[in-house]
Amino acid sequence: MRLRILPKTEAGKDPDALLRLFVTIALVSVVVITLLAGYTFEEVLRRYVVSNAEEGAVSVSSALLAVERERITEGREGSSRVEVKEPELPGLDRRLRIFLAPFNIVKIKIYSADYRIVYSTEAGLIGQSDRGNLRLANALRGAFDSKLERKEEVKDLARESKFNVDVVETYIPIRDSGGKVIGSFEVYIDVTKYRRESHEAAALSIGILAALLVTVFGISYLLVRRGTKGIKEIQEVLRRQNITDPLTGTFNKRQIELLARKEFSRALRRREKGLADAELGFIMIDIDRFKEVNDGYGHLAGDVLLQAFAERIAGSLRSYDSIGRFGGEEFLVVLPGSDLEQSRAVALKIWSLIREEPFVIEGQTLRLTASIGVSAFESGDADYLQVLKRADQNLYAAKSGGRDRVV
Ligand code: GH3
Ligand code: MG
Ligand code: MG
Repeated sequence: MRLRILPKTEAGKDPDALLRLFVTIALVSVVVITLLAGYTFEEVLRRYVVSNAEEGAVSVSSALLAVERERITEGREGSSRVEVKEPELPGLDRRLRIFLAPFNIVKIKIYSADYRIVYSTEAGLIGQSDRGNLRLANALRGAFDSKLERKEEVKDLARESKFNVDVVETYIPIRDSGGKVIGSFEVYIDVTKYRRESHEAAALSIGILAALLVTVFGISYLLVRRGTKGIKEIQEVLRRQNITDPLTGTFNKRQIELLARKEFSRALRRREKGLADAELGFIMIDIDRFKEVNDGYGHLAGDVLLQAFAERIAGSLRSYDSIGRFGGEEFLVVLPGSDLEQSRAVALKIWSLIREEPFVIEGQTLRLTASIGVSAFESGDADYLQVLKRADQNLYAAKSGGRDRVV
C-alpha cells in the first residue's frame, strides 16, 4: 500500500543550472586557454627560429667578409666601398657556393651603399638597383633586419627548385675598418625543417595542455555533480517535509487546504466557462471515540493506529485524489471531478473499509469506526471554505446522529 506522495515539482532546478553553468565555463575555458597557449607557443617558437637563423646569417656573413673582404671591397682605408670587379665574379661565385653549401642558405646578395646589387647567387640580378627597399635602407643605417617568409618556390644554390619554403631573410650591414656602413649582405636561410619541427612541438604541447585541462575539468565536473546531487536530495527532503504530516505521511493541513483551494478554483473556472469536469468533492473523516484508544492502549499505540488508519484510506483512493491530516485524528479527502453522489460512494467505501477489517494493535485486534461528512461543489459556492464548512457540518451531524455513519 502506498501513501499519497506528491507529484514532483520544480525542486532541484537550480543545482542543475549550476552544473550547466560549470560545464559551459569549463568548455569555454578549455577552448580559450588552448587557443591562447597555442598562439603563444607558436609565436615564441617562430621568434626562436628567426633569431637562430639571424644568428646563423650574421656568423656566416662575418666569416665570409673575413675571407673575401679584398674581393668585395675596393679603395683605400677610410674611403673603401663595396664593389666586385667583373673578372672576380666567376671565382667569387664558385668559392661562395662551396662555402655556403653546408648552411641551409638558398640565396645571398651583396649590396653597395648606393642600393646596387654587386653580387648575387642569382646572376641575373647583378647590377640592378633596389632603391625602394626599406629594409635595405635600414641595414645601410647599420641595423640587422630579419623576417620570416613563406615562398612558393625558391631556387637553391645548386639551382634546384624548392617549393613552399620557409625562408628567413636577413640584412647584415657591411662596415669598413673604421666602422662605417659601406654595404649590406642579404642572406636567405631555409628554415622549413625548423618551422616544421616547431609546429610539431607546439602541437604536442597544446595536445598535452588540452588533455590536462579536460582531465582537471572532468574531475571537477564529477565533484560538482556529486555536490549538486546532494543539494537536490536535500531540497527534495525539505520539500517533502514541508508538505507532509510526519506521523501519517499524508499531506499536512496547510498542503491539503492548498490543494482544496486550487481544485476549487479549477472547478469554478470550468463551471463558469460551461465546461465539463467541473465537479469537486470533499470528505471529512473523524475516528470515533479515539480518546478511549489512547486511554486504553497508550498514546504511542494510538499513534501507530493513526498511521494504519491513514494508510488504509490512502491506499483506497484514486491517483488524482488527495488525503491530508486536518486535525488530531481527523482527515480531509479532496476528490477532483467527483460530484456529491460519487463522493458519497467513495465515503461509503472508506467507511466500510474502516469498520469491516479490524486493526491490529500490540498483538490485539481492535475494531474502529469513523464518522464521515461529505460535501460537493454546488452552484453558488464562491469559496472552497463554503464547501469545506458543509463537510464539517455533516461530520458533526454524523457524530451527533450516533457516530459510525456517512452524512
Ligand atoms: P469522537 O470523535 O467520537 O467524538 O470522540 P474522540 O474521542 O475521537 O474525540 P475527539 O475527536 O474530540 O478527540 C480526538 C482525540 O484524539 C484527542 C486526542 O487524545 C487524540 N489524538 C489527537 N491527535 C493525536 C495523535 O497525534 N496521536 C494520538 N495517539 N492521539 C491523538
Ligand atoms: Mg474523534
Ligand atoms: Mg477529532
